[in-house]
Amino acid sequence: MERDKIINILKNTDAFLTGHFVLASGNHSENYIQCAKLFEYPNIAKDIALELGKKWKKKKIALVIGPAMGAVILSFELAKVLNARSIFAERKNGVMMLRRNFHIKKDENVLVCEDVVTTGGSVKEVIELVRSMSGNIVGVTSIIKRCKDNPFENYEYKSLITLDFPVYKPSECPLCKKGVPIKAPGTKIK
Ligand SMILES: [Zn+2]
Repeated sequence: MERDKIINILKNTDAFLTGHFVLASGNHSENYIQCAKLFEYPNIAKDIALELGKKWKKKKIALVIGPAMGAVILSFELAKVLNARSIFAERKNGVMMLRRNFHIKKDENVLVCEDVVTTGGSVKEVIELVRSMSGNIVGVTSIIKRCKDNPFENYEYKSLITLDFPVYKPSECPLCKKGVPIKAPGTKIK
């Protein structure tokens, strides 16, 4: 799937917005990503997972895991493509863990997934969790990559698309200077 087509899908589902936004960091940006909007459309999510899954088809993935909530649906859809199991990790008292009787078999091939990777913090926690349970991490994958390099040093990382857009301190934001109305995250701009 070409880059333009993926961007169109993200824009058409409102997963990728253009306007003037306050990000979670407090910084401002002309763009805002909310991947959950993509998963509002199961048939589109399926197509996206199919594209991403293609990149891992030869790796004999047995288990797909990602951090809740963002990666729950993606893990499920990827597991269908890869004929693997799907589980998710979640935080309890701030600690990333497996609940619900989920388990990781020793040495099983694990793919760690996430919807959007910015710093990769949650994914790193899942990586540590999988390692602590002796799973064999084959790689990390995400729909959207927001970071420049691979934050997961020792592992192969493949994303469907890299989205690189400028983020401004509020005091230096050109959109503020132009007087463009600003929206808080999650608010539609139409
Ligand atoms: Zn601004």
